[in-house]
Amino acid sequence: MNTQLSCNVFSIASEVREPRPNFYVTMTTMIAEKTHRAELLDGRIAADAIKRGVAGEVAALKGERGVTPRLAAVIVGDDPASAVYVRNKIRACAEVGIASEHLPMPAATTTSDLLQVVKKLNQDDDVDGILVQLPLPKQIAEIEIIEAIDPAKDIDAFHPVNVGLLAMGRPRFVPCTPAGIIELLDRNNIQIEGANACIIGRSQIVGKPVAALLLQRHATVTICHSKTRDLPAVTRQADILVAAIGRPAFVRAEFIKPGAVVIDVGVNKISDPDQARDFFGRDADARVDAIAKKGYTLVGDVHPAEADRVAGKRTPVPGGVGLLTVAMLMKNTLQAAKWRR
Ligand code: NAP
Repeated sequence: MNTQLSCNVFSIASEVREPRPNFYVTMTTMIAEKTHRAELLDGRIAADAIKRGVAGEVAALKGERGVTPRLAAVIVGDDPASAVYVRNKIRACAEVGIASEHLPMPAATTTSDLLQVVKKLNQDDDVDGILVQLPLPKQIAEIEIIEAIDPAKDIDAFHPVNVGLLAMGRPRFVPCTPAGIIELLDRNNIQIEGANACIIGRSQIVGKPVAALLLQRHATVTICHSKTRDLPAVTRQADILVAAIGRPAFVRAEFIKPGAVVIDVGVNKISDPDQARDFFGRDADARVDAIAKKGYTLVGDVHPAEADRVAGKRTPVPGGVGLLTVAMLMKNTLQAAKWRR
């Protein structure tokens, strides 16, 4: 009788008590969701560390062998974005002690004009790295130019020989953006081996080489593109998600596995303040101000406010992958000089 009674009392008590832990769990989860914010993977810290390392090696090369690495940057036409990229690269050369030459060419340049310039740079023994800023104007056969660059000076690693070496797992130069992504993961102690990695984008300069590098580091790699079915269902499996699409804030919350590392490669200009408010949430004021002052602000391929709610870590735009790209270009130029001389 007593046992029966105590059982009944216990069951009544547990019925009464039971909802409380659930209530607390729900509240705690809701508060955590509201306050959770993805950690930002700061590209500047990693890029500065890489550039410091390059500067030290450049100084040593100069001191011990009298060799100063040299980069030649060719830019055709007056695309403002390309001009900014080239300016940043030239500035980085100055920071690390690499000599540079800036070779602007008119928008009407032909394939044969540009081939002449590349040929001269190939023959110039003082030039270690040749960079032809892409995209080129439509009248120029881009592939002919890429194939004309001496593979030993191909610091962007776009030449078929360098692409082939990378695919075989014994790269000479690694393309700068993909190499920067791996550096960023390593320097933030993000485990690649065994991780599910998904890349949205299969371009020759980002998507494919990132996939090759992650595979070589023993990630399980999925490459998605515009024909992938149910994209969010695929990307949601990823521990490491790389977005290289070229569409502003395309990757929304439902694309991201909770706690995943999200690498945003995209660089897109937006000029609509309402769009900026949607994309940047509580950080929108600075972006709306930038639009008012400059006419635009930059956003990646990942929706930053939504990624902040779901991802564990993410790269910002600007201030993420782009800075690593320039730092890796410096590293490749130094490497070219060391091999060639
Ligand atoms: P890209 O050559 O235009 O390639 C874009 C890729 O995205 C393609 O493979 C395309 O698929 C895929 N894609 C397009 N729409 C899609 C959709 N709706 N769903 C799924 N996939 C889709 O671009 P990229 O040169 O790789 O550049 C990508 C972005 O990264 C751009 O914003 C670029 O400015 C930026 N970027 C930044 C850096 C840096 O240093 N931060 C360096 C390079 C590039 P298909 O192949 O099926 O067409």
